[in-house]
Amino acid sequence: MATSTAPPNGSRTGKSYMVGLADGRRVYLAGRPVADLAHDPRTEGMAAFLADLLDEHRPDGGLTGEDGHPLAYSLAHSAEEVRERGRAFARIARLSGGLMGRSPDFVATVLTAWAGAADHFGPYADNVRAYWQHARAANLLLTHAISDPPADRHLGPRADGEVQALRAIRTTDDGVVVRGAKMLATLSPFADDLVIYPFRPLDESETDQALCFAVPVATPGLTLYSRPSYASAPAGDGPLAGRFDELDAICHFDDVLVPWDRVFIHGDVARANNLRPGTGMTSYAWHQSAVRAWVKAETVYDLAARCARAAGRDRQPLVRQQLGELAGIVETLRGLVVSAETGTRPDEFGQYVCESVPLAASGMLNARLYPRAVELLQAIASSGLVMHPVTADEDPESAGHTFMQTYFAGAGVDGLAHGRLLRAAADLTMNRFGTRQVLYERLFLGPPEAFQAKFHDLFAAGRSVDSPVLDGLDG
Ligand SMILES: Cc1cc2nc3c(=O)[nH]c(=O)nc-3n(C[C@H](O)[C@H](O)[C@H](O)COP(=O)(O)OP(=O)(O)OC[C@H]3O[C@@H](n4cnc5c(N)ncnc54)[C@H](O)[C@@H]3O)c2cc1C
Repeated sequence: MATSTAPPNGSRTGKSYMVGLADGRRVYLAGRPVADLAHDPRTEGMAAFLADLLDEHRPDGGLTGEDGHPLAYSLAHSAEEVRERGRAFARIARLSGGLMGRSPDFVATVLTAWAGAADHFGPYADNVRAYWQHARAANLLLTHAISDPPADRHLGPRADGEVQALRAIRTTDDGVVVRGAKMLATLSPFADDLVIYPFRPLDESETDQALCFAVPVATPGLTLYSRPSYASAPAGDGPLAGRFDELDAICHFDDVLVPWDRVFIHGDVARANNLRPGTGMTSYAWHQSAVRAWVKAETVYDLAARCARAAGRDRQPLVRQQLGELAGIVETLRGLVVSAETGTRPDEFGQYVCESVPLAASGMLNARLYPRAVELLQAIASSGLVMHPVTADEDPESAGHTFMQTYFAGAGVDGLAHGRLLRAAADLTMNRFGTRQVLYERLFLGPPEAFQAKFHDLFAAGRSVDSPVLDGLDG
């Protein structure tokens, strides 16, 4: 395998990332182009977070390996290296309390899986290896778009035969020209590159949609139509939304040229449909997401416990019971990560990976556990979610300052700090930021009902148990 000539990781700084956001990318937010993502009040919080994340990749930060490369971009050659990668996922998740669903380590680890099993890509295998080396050396912030617009999935082609889903329309000496839409790419307005591959199984006839490739977000012809930002509450009134709104966008490709060296699958339905088993990528992706789900549950628990303590509610038996259920959610998700990491073994491509079944169980259960955790937080914080000091009350000159300080002072916190806790709890339970977080976890692995059936197949396939109790019953 050729070695990378790109500069070693660490040379990329948060500052250079912020400057690089002005690269001509076409991002529409609430129907209008965003002039400067690094300084727009709706996007600057997330841009600054990502810049800090890049700066965290320093030699002693626990996010890079001995070779200086990010652990999210590293293949594991032992069980300990898998666990080391898991600890890096946890460190990254803790920086946002797990609230950044598509932190860049997710697609980094997917690409790494592809590189470890690059033969799956046949004639494009070297492209995958070279792109992984490039992305790893530059610590690229990647995201992906894999779903098709609903019309194509549920209604079929239009009367004129046009499809809306992204497809290849021609090839040139320079690459593949693609047209259509992919949805919906979380984080894409802030990412360096966008990775495209299919989510649903393709029919044999859909060769033009059998595509896997990567392009910079700032590619000519590519436009991102983002949903409105949820970060627009007055600073401090949405303390979590203001920092962790990663945005979601539809990606429109208006005859975009994908250069040949960034093409990974083209026209090969079998390789597209077998991308997951053919590369073992789910074990990598689910390891990251299971760690993040556990950290996110911890965040909800910690916030609920702080709100309960501040209000004295932690002395009520019912609230203690609710906190116990929340703690059980944390332990369930943590236990599944431990179980998966304990079962680490080499996969069929020779790389060490976690055991998949506990990771899949985590993803399946989290679709229900996260909404339940938020419901418990709502029950615990209760009326405080609507009635609490706002940021304006922190100004000593404001009319409500003294009143709020007095009436909301709680156990170990003054009234204004209590307000900050409740505003964070309201972010997770009451507003669009919070309900989007619930939707994100519900749909993380696609429709949860569909995933339950897939999980059963995975569980049952690896199971052969002799039962002295049952064996006599069915012969
Ligand atoms: C906040 C958020 C962020 C996202 N980020 C990304 C991203 O970064 N990249 C990306 O590519 N995609 C992303 N997605 C898209 C996500 O993958 C899809 O939402 C998901 O696959 C479900 O597709 P859908 O929403 O179109 O629902 P549909 O597939 O239309 O399903 C709608 C409902 O129908 C039912 N249903 C559908 N199929 C079945 C089935 N087989 N069995 C039983 N019931 C079924 C379920 O109740 C389901 O909820 C994101 C979605 C959300 C909400």
